[in-house]
Amino acid sequence: MNVQVNIGVSACLIGSKCNFNGSDLLSPFVKELQSIDQVNFIYFCPEDEVFGTPRPNLRIVGGDGDDVLDGKALVIDENGKDVTALQISGAHKFLDHLKKSNVTIAILMEGSPSCGSNVLLNEANWPMGGFKRGIGVSAALLRRNEIKVFSSFDELSISNFLQMRIAKFTLKNNLKDLKDLAKFKKLFEES
Ligand code: SF4
Repeated sequence: MNVQVNIGVSACLIGSKCNFNGSDLLSPFVKELQSIDQVNFIYFCPEDEVFGTPRPNLRIVGGDGDDVLDGKALVIDENGKDVTALQISGAHKFLDHLKKSNVTIAILMEGSPSCGSNVLLNEANWPMGGFKRGIGVSAALLRRNEIKVFSSFDELSISNFLQMRIAKFTLKNNLKDLKDLAKFKKLFEES
């Protein structure tokens, strides 16, 4: 099978300077995928869309993105302001943007209160308290709407997925997934 693959992508991963402080979060792995003819990136930043850039840093308090969507947790900015409604609105704009292009998979920046798909920053000693398991608000909403979400660190799984769909896709050696990385491994061994 050799088809065009539409992939939703966190805009910061391909160099858009939409991180809260105006930086990008460029992923050389994701950027390289963009150069494949059969890959069509639909990129978006849900926080830039509703808050603009630069903006106060955000965190989820009392749970994760699923809890936010269920009304059980809040999104609070670094000044202590409750921005939950806007964060959910940004997630819906991201979903709408991807649905317009019939996107069924997305590669999202890990650790973000919007785009994180496996880990978030710990609330305690935030933003220096390390990571906890959890999903961001946009990632949770995409997943609830049948979009398969990959972490930007899931290089092996993303490559395996593309190899099944793109005839000439070359699978590189020594690729890993997020759960194999020393930085995160312990979090997933604990339960
Ligand atoms: S909200 Fe998502 S796309 Fe925007 S800067 Fe954060 S991780 Fe990147």
